[in-house]
Amino acid sequence: MDQLTRDDRTRLKAALLTVAPWLGAHEVGPRAVDAGPCDACGETPRLLPTCGPAGHEALCPACAEAAGIDAWCDGHHDEGRAALAWAARLPARWADLVVLWWLATGEVRPGATSVPDLHGLPAPITAALRPPPAR
Ligand SMILES: [Zn+2]
Ligand SMILES: [Zn+2]
Repeated sequence: MDQLTRDDRTRLKAALLTVAPWLGAHEVGPRAVDAGPCDACGETPRLLPTCGPAGHEALCPACAEAAGIDAWCDGHHDEGRAALAWAARLPARWADLVVLWWLATGEVRPGATSVPDLHGLPAPITAALRPPPAR
């Protein structure tokens, strides 16, 4: 995947939202935070905005779970609880899907990130990334 055209990205985004509607959430998930690694572990994608008592702006699900509700201030414990509940329902391949989301939205360019192994991802996603047959 060297280049993604605008059409490629539109197709990929539609496929991702079909297969993983959680990507479209506004309060949490890739739409709620800037693309990039978790502020705490620096490894997995950041997904959950926190309001900072622990000193992190956005956490990956594992770090958010480890920090628990204390990652949010007293005034935002309801939001924190909702975010943690959302994160607990993410599928096993969530991180790969988030990277594809970044590519689909253009937040990250192919080449600036390692493209996930597509093997085993739902068919609509792999189909969206496969070039249309030449005529
Ligand atoms: Zn983390
Ligand atoms: Zn707060």
